[in-house]
Amino acid sequence: MSTARTVTDTDGIVIDRMESGDTSYYLRVLSPDKGLIDVTARGVKKQGSANSAASQLFACSHMTLAQSKGRYYLSGSEIIRSFYGIRLDIEKLALAAYFSEIIRHTVTGEQTARDIYRLLTNSLYMLSEKDESKTLVKLVFELRLCAEMGMMPRLIGCDECYRTEKKMFFLIHEGIFLCPKHMDTRVVYPGPYTVMVTEGMVEAMRYICLSDAGKLFSFSLSDAALKVLSDISEHYLEYHAGKHFDTLDYYKKILI
Ligand SMILES: [Zn+2]
Repeated sequence: MSTARTVTDTDGIVIDRMESGDTSYYLRVLSPDKGLIDVTARGVKKQGSANSAASQLFACSHMTLAQSKGRYYLSGSEIIRSFYGIRLDIEKLALAAYFSEIIRHTVTGEQTARDIYRLLTNSLYMLSEKDESKTLVKLVFELRLCAEMGMMPRLIGCDECYRTEKKMFFLIHEGIFLCPKHMDTRVVYPGPYTVMVTEGMVEAMRYICLSDAGKLFSFSLSDAALKVLSDISEHYLEYHAGKHFDTLDYYKKILI
């Protein structure tokens, strides 16, 4: 390919942005067919700029990108969803910033990212438009992302006998379940990384990892069960992705 200027179209969501001079931004954009890309949005801070709305944090748009010398420039845009409700609520904004940090760590360079793009847009839609429980959205995003990245737990049932009993144990580091009987036969070090879960919680984890992407949020659990699973999913993601996310600390801090 020559270095001549080319034009390409893609959908994209702004997951991070930095100031660039007085009038422009550098945007970090997640695109379903290009993965994570950097886009320069020139002049968008000027009053009346046609690309101003598309340059907002977490805005989702159809973008026209000019490519020159390996860099992308935003040359046109049509808003799909602004997810404005997220920017009005500091807790939702903090949770969305956490999702953004996870994506920046797990999606690298140019690659197709259709499933993760869909997961992010669905999650932001639930937060912004449906005012869905933040704990539920956090749990679904974390666990489904692990599944999409090839870090899915073994969901069949007890790792030894394949049964799912009313009470089960989930071993976060191993990513497996054990029934009470086989829990007794294993040398398992007690601690926060072995968690007792109910049959309903096991079913919810299966649902989140395996259901159709369009139905991901169509299940219900008690607030107490959601809290247990949300704690599991954040530890599971942190351990298997090999990273502690500072934005999660901030999110938890402002919730108190
Ligand atoms: Zn068993």
